[in-house]
Amino acid sequence: MKIINAKLLKSYVGKTALVRIDLNIDEKTDEGLFRLQSVLPTLSLLIKNNVRIILVSHKGRPTKTEKKLSLKPFAEIFEDALGTSIDFIPSLEFDVITKKLETSDSQIVLLENIRFLKGEEENDESLAKQLASLGHLYINDAFAVSHRAHASVASLPKFLPSYAGLCLAKEIKSLTLKKKPAHPFILIVGGAKVSDKLPIVQKFEKSISTVLLGGGAANTVLASEGIPMGKSLYEKDAIPSIKKYTFSSIIETPVDVAEAKGRILDIGPKTTKLYTALIKEAGTIVWSGPMGKFEGKGFEKGTKAIWKAVVEKATRDSSVKIIVGGGETIASLALLPKSMRLLPENVFLSTGGGAMLEFLSGKKLPGIKALK
Ligand code: ADP
Ligand code: MG
Repeated sequence: MKIINAKLLKSYVGKTALVRIDLNIDEKTDEGLFRLQSVLPTLSLLIKNNVRIILVSHKGRPTKTEKKLSLKPFAEIFEDALGTSIDFIPSLEFDVITKKLETSDSQIVLLENIRFLKGEEENDESLAKQLASLGHLYINDAFAVSHRAHASVASLPKFLPSYAGLCLAKEIKSLTLKKKPAHPFILIVGGAKVSDKLPIVQKFEKSISTVLLGGGAANTVLASEGIPMGKSLYEKDAIPSIKKYTFSSIIETPVDVAEAKGRILDIGPKTTKLYTALIKEAGTIVWSGPMGKFEGKGFEKGTKAIWKAVVEKATRDSSVKIIVGGGETIASLALLPKSMRLLPENVFLSTGGGAMLEFLSGKKLPGIKALK
């Protein structure tokens, strides 16, 4: 896999790069801004080297054209961020796009939501070929969708010289853990689902010291131990596949919880104390999934306390390696006061949720494989 750099781009001066980015975000949130910012280094490098840019992205899960999932609002955002004019092309008809590319003198062109074409999710090669015909090189800077075998991610690179963007390269570097990560290796798992998160445990079975569970993930493991979960969020279907972890000595489930109307919505204060004490001693931490329903008042305490412990640990101990990912997990950083949100360098925030988990679990992501 080749990563773009100034020297390489010398041979593409005046040419056009198709750049796959991830705009599947709410640009009004801090988390959305964080993900928008992550692609700016790649775009700036291309601009500086006089390479024309066609931005390709998706948003949401449309089955047909849906106005509210248009990428149009992002044109202005990138114009402000990059200080250059951007042409948004509202049509995905290829003759319209080609005409517009011929007549536009903007260095950056933004295509409409590529999932408005059903060939995208179907990984249709003819769509990939049509996209390829628009440019001279392809750059993947969308780590968060690299686990999807979709046309603009997995097939398009077959038809053009293809490279990793700077954000993708940083993700791969930061998420590549040593076979035996520094001890104690602590995995914190919360959020809605557990089935997509436990494969990491399998991959690092011999090196993970403790798995701290919260959220729906904890509820599911407790349910698998025969504890009634009532109306609490848990993943019934996952119980058979996670049974092998039940009662495992490395798994920590909450010793107390916060509830409302018969639903478990957060870890309790005793659990928080136990978990934060373990975080203090960690050598490596991977965290995915909030500890509770943090969006509602009263059930954010567990997640906030874990963030505080993680940031304090990172600040005190520069040798610890910390990885945090997942849309809602990153969004929950906003629970901390602003002064604590400037994270030290040893904390890596991944732009991926599902993609991060698959990468850490050792799976080959189609979008990364296609660059090789
Ligand atoms: P991420 O986006 O970080 O990968 P998930 O998508 O797996 O995380 O789950 C995040 C969601 O899980 C949050 O919206 C949060 O409110 C919810 N959640 C966590 N714990 C609970 C709980 N105990 N009950 C209900 N919802 C929960
Ligand atoms: Mg989520």
